[in-house]
Amino acid sequence: MRYVESVIDLVGDTPLVKLNSVTAGLRATVLAKVEYFNPGGSVKDRIAVRMIEAAERTGQLKPGGTIVEPTSGNTGVGLAMVAQRKGYKCVFVCPDKVSQDKINVLRAYGADVVVCPTAVAPEHPDSYYNVSDRLVRELPGAWKPDQYSNPNNPLSHYHSTGPEIWAQTEGRLTAFVAGVGTGGTISGTGRYLKEVSDGRVAVIGADPEGSVYSGGTGRPYLIEGVGEDFWPACYDPDGTDEVLAVSDKDAFQMTRRLAREEGLLVGGSCGMAVVAALRYAERLTEQDVVVVLLPDSGRGYLSKIFNDDWMADYGFLTPPGHEDTVLDVL
Ligand code: PMP
Repeated sequence: MRYVESVIDLVGDTPLVKLNSVTAGLRATVLAKVEYFNPGGSVKDRIAVRMIEAAERTGQLKPGGTIVEPTSGNTGVGLAMVAQRKGYKCVFVCPDKVSQDKINVLRAYGADVVVCPTAVAPEHPDSYYNVSDRLVRELPGAWKPDQYSNPNNPLSHYHSTGPEIWAQTEGRLTAFVAGVGTGGTISGTGRYLKEVSDGRVAVIGADPEGSVYSGGTGRPYLIEGVGEDFWPACYDPDGTDEVLAVSDKDAFQMTRRLAREEGLLVGGSCGMAVVAALRYAERLTEQDVVVVLLPDSGRGYLSKIFNDDWMADYGFLTPPGHEDTVLDVL
């Protein structure tokens, strides 16, 4: 019989898929690391497993304990899935810009979800950071993984995502591109790839316009899960060679193209990362292999990015007759 002991054993070992259409005109090979193949549907399953198992070892998380975390959804799903198998309760605190679809998924796994306003400063008592701190103090047996400062977040990528990409490309990749949220993905994966290649692999961040990583002030943007208005401990600014800023419009238009042209139904931060990867790849040659990490699936964004009315309301749709067509590419 071929089976795994539990769903947790399915985390990681995601495939690389070559991008064939959106790369028209580029000489480099661009490969997407498609993280929606994780059982919780995103890259965040990786950090959930490692953060929880480390907290069990140190005794911070005891049998029957409660996991409390401010999360934009994907980390919550990963934590909820692992917690379900291991018998922990979960309470998640989300900003109100997170799609209802994502919140419903968390509740489906049996988690409690508290929704907080986005339009308040991080130090405000109602900010999602402060609400989660209060819950940790008040709930008995509560533990907060804190994906922004937990070293097991970047470490999970150092030990899984990085080695997978190196092995899958047989050491031939020359650049790694990923969006920056907590910074765990780019810092952990990037550190591994730099070490194993003696610094040969370029590590390129992708960031929403307005976010601090690409020099912004922290002004709002619509891409979910990436960008920040502060510098988290998990992000190592010295580990990236460059951070490219991408607009909401460019990110969302690319997200839609990935579904229609590549058959990859992925989220908005994936479109953002691909825009950055393609811009970077314009400077590269046939010898280059770029790996771009796509964190999650498009299923959580059907009422936003994949909804024409929502896109039109923000002015993100290209007027009819001006779309990129096959003819333009030819
Ligand atoms: N994209 C999405 C959709 C995410 O949820 C996250 C995690 N916040 C990221 C990208 C960024 O990953 P990281 O936190 O590892 O920088």
